[in-house]
Amino acid sequence: MATENVIIIGSGPAGLTAAIYAARADLTPFMIEGYQAGGQLMLTSEVENFPGYPNGIMGPEMMADIRKQAERFGTRFLTKDVTKVDFCRGGVTPPVHVVHVGDEKFEANSIIISTGASARLIGLPNERRLMGKGVTTCATCDGAFFRNMDVAVVGGGDSAIEEATFLTRFCSKVTVIHRRDALRASKIMQDRAHANKKIAFIWDTVVEDVLGEKEVEGLKLKNVKTGETSTFKAAGLFVAIGHDPNTQLFKDQIEMDQNGYITTRDGMKTNVPGVFACGDVQDHVYRQAITAAGSGCQAAIDCEKYLESLGH
Ligand code: NAP
Repeated sequence: MATENVIIIGSGPAGLTAAIYAARADLTPFMIEGYQAGGQLMLTSEVENFPGYPNGIMGPEMMADIRKQAERFGTRFLTKDVTKVDFCRGGVTPPVHVVHVGDEKFEANSIIISTGASARLIGLPNERRLMGKGVTTCATCDGAFFRNMDVAVVGGGDSAIEEATFLTRFCSKVTVIHRRDALRASKIMQDRAHANKKIAFIWDTVVEDVLGEKEVEGLKLKNVKTGETSTFKAAGLFVAIGHDPNTQLFKDQIEMDQNGYITTRDGMKTNVPGVFACGDVQDHVYRQAITAAGSGCQAAIDCEKYLESLGH
């Protein structure tokens, strides 16, 4: 088995940008893109904040374009899921890392992890069906599509309150629906939200269903204390109940913070020599396509320098 220069795991904007840079550095990267390639942008509709698209672009179309760009310079793709990794943490020089895809096994001198994060969803069938058609997990990405409309935000943490506050720039009314009667968000964010006349709260309530044929028209709500159900009219549902980094594969292999995000230092290096991480898998603050792409570029440059130091 030939040892790859670099295997990139994950194919959102971070991984694909890393692939473009690694390919242009003649590293002929091998990307294991996953069965659900393209990352979170495959779930969004129009992207209006990525520089270079003055008229906006659909998320999936942008990802297809970036993939073509990576392919053009020699990236090879495998459309399967990684099932296991064995990172070399000393002993062998230079370290060789092993990536398993079912029964197949690949070796590499370096690895770039860009498996992203997934927004938590409530778990309702109609929530998934209407994703991108009124249901969204990103106010920064989609808020502007709800100008002068009434929308709902589910959640009670900092994300929910931040999203609700941001949405008041566009929406006529933003209703935060929370399953308890107290917010988890920081005091300052709460105070800001309570002072905002466009924000209303519905307490002790869960969303039981998302209503609408082609797009969101309303929600079925249930008060968890009284058991009472009701219909709530809304053109949008922003689900803001947290994100989970996609790092289950790397448990016990690499250093992570208490929330499971990979910790990077000195650029995009992880604690394992030759293993780099970029994008949402190591960033719970910015979480934007453009910042992910930027960190992908950094990871590829760091990786190139590392391989150079090994004499490759
Ligand atoms: P979080 O703090 O974990 O809050 C998640 C919220 O969603 C909680 O209010 C939780 O309810 C609710 N929730 C969870 N599962 C639910 C479900 N199935 N149905 C209905 N509601 C559900 O997540 P986050 O708000 O994304 O924040 C994550 C971290 O990032 C936090 O440390 C936060 O401080 C930080 N953050 C900071 C900022 C900022 O400072 N600007 C902005 C965003 C995030 P319960 O309260 O009942 O558990």
